[in-house]
Amino acid sequence: MVDFTLTDEQQALREMAHDFAEKEIRPVAWEYDKDGTWPQEIVEKAWELGLMNTHIPEEYGGAGASYFDGALIEEELSWGCSGIQTSLGCNGLATAPVVYAASEELKKEYLGRLTEAPLLASFCLTEPEAGSDVASMRTTAVKQGDKYVINGSKCFITNGGYANWYTVYAKTDKDAGHRGISAFIVPRDAGVVVDKKEDKLGQRASNTATISFNDVEIPAENLIGEENKGFKIAMATLDRTRPGVASMAVGIARAAMEFAVNYSKERVQFGVPIAMHQGIQFMIADMASEIEAARLLAWKSAVMLDNGERNTLVSSFAKRFAADTAMKVATDAVQVYGGYGFIKEYPVEKLFRDAKIMQLYEGTSQIQRLVIARETLVPRRIEEPAAA
Ligand SMILES: Cc1cc2nc3c(=O)[nH]c(=O)nc-3n(C[C@H](O)[C@H](O)[C@H](O)COP(=O)(O)OP(=O)(O)OC[C@H]3O[C@@H](n4cnc5c(N)ncnc54)[C@H](O)[C@@H]3O)c2cc1C
Repeated sequence: MVDFTLTDEQQALREMAHDFAEKEIRPVAWEYDKDGTWPQEIVEKAWELGLMNTHIPEEYGGAGASYFDGALIEEELSWGCSGIQTSLGCNGLATAPVVYAASEELKKEYLGRLTEAPLLASFCLTEPEAGSDVASMRTTAVKQGDKYVINGSKCFITNGGYANWYTVYAKTDKDAGHRGISAFIVPRDAGVVVDKKEDKLGQRASNTATISFNDVEIPAENLIGEENKGFKIAMATLDRTRPGVASMAVGIARAAMEFAVNYSKERVQFGVPIAMHQGIQFMIADMASEIEAARLLAWKSAVMLDNGERNTLVSSFAKRFAADTAMKVATDAVQVYGGYGFIKEYPVEKLFRDAKIMQLYEGTSQIQRLVIARETLVPRRIEEPAAA
C-alpha cells in the first residue's frame, strides 16, 4: 500500500527544519545574498541542531537519518535559502562516497571529524576541461611507495574555500577513460591550494572555489574503495544526492509560489486583485501542480534508496523535473510581480537567480535527460562515461 502520510517523527523533523529556516535563515538570506556573505554562524547552529551530516551513520557520530528524512529537511532549509542550504548540505555530497566505499579507518577518521566539530568537506569532481564529461578529467594521482602524489585543478567546488578535507577524483590510469579514475580523501593541510572564490549569479551565500593540487602527497590508505573504481563511486554518489537536490529545487519553487500567491492577492489592477484574473490563476495552478509532482518524484527517489533499490532512473526524473520546475515557477513568480519582480527589493528576484543553478550542478538538465533516455532505451546499464 502506498501511503504519503508522514509519521509523527517525520512531521516533527519537518517542523524543526522549517522553524530553523524561518527563524535563522530567512531573516538574513537576502542580506547575505547581496554581498555573498559566508553563513558561518548558521553553519554552527545547524550543526548543533543536527541539521547537518544527517546521512552519516550513527557509529561515526551522525544522525543515520533516512534519505527520505533528508529530503524533508532539504526542502525546508532551501525554502529558507537554497544558497545557505547548499553550504549546509555539501557535507552530504562529500561524505557519500566515503560512506559508500571507504575503509573503516577512513570512515572513523574523516566522518568523525565532521560529527565532532562543525567542520566542512567538499566533493571535487569538476575540472575546467571536464564538467559533464567526467572521463576527460586531467588531475592525476600517481602511486609512489606508500603514497599517492596528486596534481591538477578542480573548479566550482562548493565550500572549497572552507573545507577541512576533500573527496577528490583523479586519474590513476590516464589511458583508461572513465575506468581509470580513482577517489581519494585529501586533507586540506596536505597542501591543497584555494585559488579563487567565484562571484556568482545566484546562491551567493554559498562558497564556490577553484582549488589546486601541486605535488600533494597523501597516504596510500586515503584511496576510497579500489583503484580505478572512482567513476562508479561518483555515479553511486550522485544517485544518493540527487533526491536531496530535487527536494532543494522543490523548496525554492515553493517559496517562489508562496510569494506570488500573496502578492497576487494584494496587487490591484483593473479594479481587482490580480489573483482574480484567470491568466494569473493559471500560472498559480501550474506552479502548485508541478511543485506537488516534483515533490512526489523527489520522495520516490529517496524512498527507493531507503529500500535499497537502484534509483538511477528515478533520481534523474526527480532532479530533472524538480530543477526545471524551480526555474519555471521562479520565472512565473517574477511574471506575477510584473516589473517589481525584476527589482532587487522584491523577494522573487533572488529566487529566480537561485533557481538557475538547480538545472546546472550535480548533472545539468541535459545530462539528466541523457541518463533518462539511456535508462529507458537500454535499461539497467550501470557504468556509463558521461553523467556528472
Ligand atoms: C555553484 C556551483 C557549484 C558547484 N559545486 C560543485 C561541487 O561541489 N563539486 C563538483 O565537482 N562540481 C561542482 N559544480 C560543477 C557542476 O556540477 C558543473 O558545472 C556541471 O556538471 C556542468 O559542467 P560544466 O559547467 O563544465 O558544463 P559543460 O559540461 O561544459 O556543459 C555545457 C553545456 O553543454 C551541455 N552538454 C554537455 N554535454 C552534453 C551532452 N552529452 N548532451 C547534451 N548536452 C550536453 C550541458 O548540459 C550544458 O548545457 C558546481 C557548479 C556550480 C556552478
